[in-house]
Amino acid sequence: MLIESKNISVVRAGSPALHFADVSIRKGEKTLILGPSGSGKTTLLSVLAGLLKPSEGCVLFENQDFYALPSRTRDHLRGQNFGFVFQTLHLLPSLDLRQNIVLAADMAGVKADEARLNHLLDTLGLSNKAHRKPEALSQGEQQRGAIARAVLNRPKIILADEPTSALDDANAEAVIALLNRQAQEAGAALVIATQDNRITSHFKNIIRLDAKLRAVA
Ligand code: ADP
Ligand code: MG
Repeated sequence: MLIESKNISVVRAGSPALHFADVSIRKGEKTLILGPSGSGKTTLLSVLAGLLKPSEGCVLFENQDFYALPSRTRDHLRGQNFGFVFQTLHLLPSLDLRQNIVLAADMAGVKADEARLNHLLDTLGLSNKAHRKPEALSQGEQQRGAIARAVLNRPKIILADEPTSALDDANAEAVIALLNRQAQEAGAALVIATQDNRITSHFKNIIRLDAKLRAVA
C-alpha cells in the first residue's frame, strides 16, 4: 500500500469533529474523494499529505507512521513523493509560468529537470506561454501549468483539490484526461477531491464524504 489512513478524526476549534472512513491507496491507483462543500475533502487531503496531524488515528505512507516521523523527515518525504494541484493554484503573480514551476521544485528540495519541464510544457500546449505571468494566462492554461508543476518531479502520488470546479464541461474533461495521463506516465497514484459529479464516470474507486454522516457536533 502507498498510503493508508486508519480511524482518522479531526477536531478543530469552532468546527464539528470530522470522522473519516479508512482510505487505502495502492501504487498507481486512481481514487476520487467526492462530497459536498464542507464535507471535509480538503481536510482529508491535508491529513493524507502529512500537512495536518489528525486528532485521532494514523496515516501510513509506505508503511511508515507518517506523523510519528520527525516533521523534517515528513516534509522531505512529501517534497520527494507528492505532487499537488491546489484549489487555488498558488501561482506567484510576479513570476512567469516557467519560473513558478521551477520555484515549486526548489521549494520541494529537488532540482527541476529542464528537459522534462520542456516536454511537459509542450505536451500541455504551454510552450509558447512559458514566459507569461499568470495574469496573462487563461484559467485553463493556469490549471494546466499547475498540473505540469505537480507532475514534474515524477511523484508517487498526485493530490488534486477541486481541479475542475471552476472549469466548463470541455475544460473539466480535458483537465481530468490530462491528470490521468500525466499520473499514468509518471507511474503516480492520483487522488482527486471534488464536489463535481461530472467526473465520477472516470473513477472506479470513489470515497464519498457526506457532511451529515461524517460530522458529529
Ligand atoms: P471541503 O473541502 O469538503 O469543502 P473542508 O475540509 O474545507 O471541506 O472543511 C470541512 C469542515 O472543517 C468545515 O466545517 C470547515 O468549516 C471546517 N474547517 C476547515 N478548515 C478549518 C480550520 N482551519 N479551522 C477550523 N475549521 C475548519
Ligand atoms: Mg475543499
